[in-house]
Amino acid sequence: MSRIRIVGGKITKHTVGTHNMYAEESIVFRSDKAISEKGEEKGVTYGKPKKAPPVVKSLLKCVVEFRPSKDWKGEFGFDWNRKSDSQMPVDEKYSDVVGKYGTLYATNPKAIFTQSNSLYIKHLLEYEMFIVDGYSRYYVPNMTLMKNEKAILDAAIEISEQPDSMCYEYDENIFQITILEKLSNKKGKHYNDKVIEIKCLKEFSSVQKIELIATKDKINKKVGQINILPNNIVKDVNVVFIPVRHNSKTGAVKGYELQILNNAFKQSYIKGSIIQLSKYIEVGDWWFDLFFTTKDKKGNTILDTSNVRSIHRALDDKFFEDKKNDIYKDYYRLYMLPDGTLNGVAEDIGGNAKVVVVYQGRNDSTAPHELMHAMGLYHTFDNDGKFTYKLHKTDNIMDYTHQAGKSRFSTNKWQWKILNSKI
Ligand SMILES: [Zn+2]
Repeated sequence: MSRIRIVGGKITKHTVGTHNMYAEESIVFRSDKAISEKGEEKGVTYGKPKKAPPVVKSLLKCVVEFRPSKDWKGEFGFDWNRKSDSQMPVDEKYSDVVGKYGTLYATNPKAIFTQSNSLYIKHLLEYEMFIVDGYSRYYVPNMTLMKNEKAILDAAIEISEQPDSMCYEYDENIFQITILEKLSNKKGKHYNDKVIEIKCLKEFSSVQKIELIATKDKINKKVGQINILPNNIVKDVNVVFIPVRHNSKTGAVKGYELQILNNAFKQSYIKGSIIQLSKYIEVGDWWFDLFFTTKDKKGNTILDTSNVRSIHRALDDKFFEDKKNDIYKDYYRLYMLPDGTLNGVAEDIGGNAKVVVVYQGRNDSTAPHELMHAMGLYHTFDNDGKFTYKLHKTDNIMDYTHQAGKSRFSTNKWQWKILNSKI
């Protein structure tokens, strides 16, 4: 039932064109004074009005996209079709930055990147898709969340026909969802910070959907979704950080690199056992210096392995001279060298080599970056990867975004699959 009641005053309705009134039941006119009707041209007729047009149900038109909050540092995996609609420091549209480089490698200043629609469409296949009426296609974000871990998400909302209500639908045995902020329900575009906290209560073996259902006039419609990949098979990876001493300087763990590495592992459902040795190995005999050092401008001897990759082997030989270290034979071995000419070097991409070398001049994300090379990932801007993104345009660990002063900590679903073949 609807009702308009006007108390007092005078109402004038003026229509330039035709004014039609239809009702499914009676229309009642009653006046306590007079009723007057006048058809200026054709008089007044009764009993032959046109049929009412079919009733158009009000369409529910809204869409809610979920995004990580701006303080997300990769504590859980979140891979979405980026559209520059989040508050993340780096959030370029994938439609602009997925493509290929020419013959020159991306880091060459003369390298040419060409955006590719067909590769972007291939990239979209990474996401489940459904149609939201009145809007374009909805690409569902892929998320990874280990048992007992939490994720806080923002919402980008667009409403042109308001719903009466919205609610989350999910398996309550698996997730606990806390609503931190009610979603905006007014017409227009809104960005709501930190709307939900999702906690994973237990392991599960099939893709879990968290759906946002909007209701209007008793009609339900899906207006948002997140897919959470099965987390019941967790891969174990062992890593040992080994300090190396050269020329009376010793390499050490840097900044938050253990945290960044641990987060990166969690994104791929990897349980990283990360050991940090306090005992260093010392290098620097004539043979080592001959191959792996150079002189800087001031004439000091500094490490230089830019041309000789076999430093990995030399360090391993030194490390395993101590038989006690045999327990680390199957570990990823990360040798932390003092200052050198590079940030870090992985021995091989996805080969059998488990040895990585990093220098003290590195940043927080170098060690995770080099380890991910050793575990099979190419640079995001490398034409040899499954997808190629424009240099510096992602916050992916395998990009060089640190060179642009931004942090890198994320990985995408296709990379999770390489790091953990069970995904
Ligand atoms: Zn690299």
